[in-house]
Amino acid sequence: MESLAKTSIKYLHGVGPKRAELLTQELGICSYYDLLYYFPYRYIDRSKIHKISDLRQLGENGEMPYLQLRGQFAAFAVHGEGAKRRLNALFFDGTGSIDVVWFNKVRQIEESYHTGVDYIIFGKPALYNSRYSITHPEVEIYKPGQEVGGLKGVYSITDKMRQRSLTLRMFQQLVQNLLGVIGNITDPLPADIIAHYRFIPLRDALVNIHVPSSVQMLQRAQFRLKYDELFFLQLNLLRYSKSRSMKLGGHRFVRVGQHFNDFYNHVLPFPLTGAQKRVIKEIRADMGSGRQMNRLLQGDVGSGKTLVALMTMLLAIDNGFQACIMAPTEILAQQHYETISQLASQVGVKVALLTGSTSKKMRDAIHAGLASGEIGITVGTHALIEDTVVFARLGMVVIDEQHRFGVAQRAKMWSKNTVPPHVLVMTATPIPRTLAMTVYGDLDVSVIDELPPGRKPVTTVLRYDNHRQQVYRFIYSQLRQGRQVYIVYPLIQESEKLDLRNLEEGYDIIRETFPDYRVCFVHGKMKPAEKDHQMHLFASGEAQIMVATTVIEVGVNVPNATVMLIENAERFGLSQLHQLRGRVGRGADRSYCILMSHVKIASTTRHRLEVMTQTTDGFMIAEEDMRLRGPGDMEGTQQSGIAFNLHIADIAKDGQIIQAARNDAQRIIDDDPTLSKPENLKLARQLQFLYSHQQDWSRIS
Ligand code: ADP
Ligand code: MG
Repeated sequence: MESLAKTSIKYLHGVGPKRAELLTQELGICSYYDLLYYFPYRYIDRSKIHKISDLRQLGENGEMPYLQLRGQFAAFAVHGEGAKRRLNALFFDGTGSIDVVWFNKVRQIEESYHTGVDYIIFGKPALYNSRYSITHPEVEIYKPGQEVGGLKGVYSITDKMRQRSLTLRMFQQLVQNLLGVIGNITDPLPADIIAHYRFIPLRDALVNIHVPSSVQMLQRAQFRLKYDELFFLQLNLLRYSKSRSMKLGGHRFVRVGQHFNDFYNHVLPFPLTGAQKRVIKEIRADMGSGRQMNRLLQGDVGSGKTLVALMTMLLAIDNGFQACIMAPTEILAQQHYETISQLASQVGVKVALLTGSTSKKMRDAIHAGLASGEIGITVGTHALIEDTVVFARLGMVVIDEQHRFGVAQRAKMWSKNTVPPHVLVMTATPIPRTLAMTVYGDLDVSVIDELPPGRKPVTTVLRYDNHRQQVYRFIYSQLRQGRQVYIVYPLIQESEKLDLRNLEEGYDIIRETFPDYRVCFVHGKMKPAEKDHQMHLFASGEAQIMVATTVIEVGVNVPNATVMLIENAERFGLSQLHQLRGRVGRGADRSYCILMSHVKIASTTRHRLEVMTQTTDGFMIAEEDMRLRGPGDMEGTQQSGIAFNLHIADIAKDGQIIQAARNDAQRIIDDDPTLSKPENLKLARQLQFLYSHQQDWSRIS
């Protein structure tokens, strides 16, 4: 493998310096290895040639597939001028005809294809003015007998490549050339794993992933390569977390002292839920182990994470350390501060709030209190990790709403002490298990899967634009009962201006519709002071309606708000809708979430919205979201450090392989943490090869 990775792609027969540059620029392919691991994203069955007369039926049965047709061109014709120039041709096969269109290289194409010659064309027919047409098909001269060719890989290539005549066909040829010269490949997997899963040899898998000899061989190749990818990913994560926990000690918190006990016995206003108790136990076990804790705490909105965080911070204090909790926004930090200082002060712990808007004077005082150790708990935003902040003995860091903190910021926190503080990362965005295993593979995970008793689930309904008046009447009835209402508009970056106009129009309409009530207005582009002012109007009850973008998604707590109306709900992801819905249902009164959508939405969109009306279980919603959108779009993955550079495995679909690969990797690491036993040297070497040039993400968090 190493030698393939060291051989520049320019030496491959058919490439050369120019094409090598193009391959690197467009697809990131620099070496033989890169091309070998550039897998097809789809396969066409070369033995199957469709009839044009079958297209209509194929199209009606679902999405039109990429397919092959065999026939001849007739009637080439150039239309348009300049940049709009295009070449049209009729392609017929005896059962019917379709249109074929080219927008580029019109002249060259016109010269190279001829009438009266049999061609195979390959592409995805689309219906246009009730006629099928294919744009930029792959075209080759039909040679009798070539249908037996079986499966052929289809690669994703760019327009720029096509323009420079590096077509799909040419690309396939390059892969063929490569497969002819790769020689022997040492299989990095241990023999017992290969035997256990009856894997085909790596070399066979690589050949068959590109040019499958049969459907069965393709499946076996896919299985093997997915496993490889996930296995080495897990092996890498587990090796790092193991070596970290062996190398780096952690503060040992063994005492359960006065602060914790006083709080538990005298201050805690309600019994803990079973899940909260279990999680606190897990955290205590970690913090008492002498190893640094790196734990992810997942729990739905309202499941009581803040309380768990507070109690763990009290443990740190009982053991002579300081603790801090970081929130992603000022408003959240403020809210945490209010909750936490109110509770902690009752057991004699001093709490400080440190954010970007803390005055210079105040800041200096806090810095002094932190350095002297007088301040036990600090609540803050990014301001907390500024270099000037020095703690006397920081033993515990809680990060709330993890996904809003970048990796680099956590790294900074980490470097504040020689013995690293225990880290508890809290998130209300439920992450499907398989995703957590991959993205946070080196963190331990605790889950609060139980809501405090007495919560009424939020009633969720889907309503279309044409029922707006009824919806407004309902809102009016809630307002009359003294409740408050959120109205949320989508704001997506691409068309911010337009969205903002929607939001402003919405604000005007709402004010006109509910003239007796005060409406406040919040969006992300506001100055922080103005935003805080508007938020405050709502939190204090002076305003009864808040019109906002998703800035209110995280954390804001107004128990009197009972209605969450989400405009253009079809434009939100499920997890985001779930987060928004979590803003209501926080008080004693029955709450409602109304998803407004256009009448005309695709059935998949309708299905997605209906998931919301059917369940309030955040994990189920997250699983569904991942299934529908794919893991790349899931919140929490973008900044998580592990870029989704998986070639073939699919986190949403390959859960079982992930689990198996993780178990296997765990077994090996438990037995040989440094991979230095002779039988594991091959593994160590492969990890070195795969990950040496990457960042050591696992040191972060
Ligand atoms: P999260 O941060 O997980 O969204 P919070 O910690 O803000 O949830 O808790 C939501 C609300 O539930 C708070 O008002 C909190 O006081 C309350 N709460 C937390 N734990 C319990 C419990 N065990 N029993 C009753 N209420 C609880
Ligand atoms: Mg919270």
